[in-house]
Amino acid sequence: MYHDILVPIDISEPALTQLVVSHVETQALLTDVARVHFLTVLPAFPYYASLGLAYSAEAPDKERIRSEALSQLSETANKFNIPKDRIELHIATGSPKDGILELAATIHADLIIIASHRPSITTYLLGSNASAVVRHAKCSVLVVR
Ligand code: ADP
Repeated sequence: MYHDILVPIDISEPALTQLVVSHVETQALLTDVARVHFLTVLPAFPYYASLGLAYSAEAPDKERIRSEALSQLSETANKFNIPKDRIELHIATGSPKDGILELAATIHADLIIIASHRPSITTYLLGSNASAVVRHAKCSVLVVR
């Protein structure tokens, strides 16, 4: 049914990831050809610098952070019961919603599966990432709660 399924993962929120596991497995295993693209978006470092939280002398080692994120994403992906040769891992930098929408366009995703926090007064219906993805994605989006 779907060929390229994009699953954005916030590695700091394992409970949200847990919510999507069965949905991703079900959609991925509907055919023998579907690929699952897991994506984690890291904050842009200049953003921290602009807040005065880091100076060049103490700038975090970008490559180390990226490779740590990749290994955590890989660990997360291994928890999904999907053939390994149908999984692709992606790391991007910037705002999560932009990274998700950009990768969706690049890989021609035909489905995005995203978890959302339960609605509350502070998030009002959908959180900012989920709502931007629903609003701007060119493909179907499954929001899991
Ligand atoms: P928030 O209130 O954090 O914006 P949302 O409910 O809008 O929460 O979206 C949460 C979902 O957004 C996560 O389940 C995940 O799919 C995606 N997401 C959030 N942050 C990231 C990130 N840094 N990298 C990849 N995906 C992310």
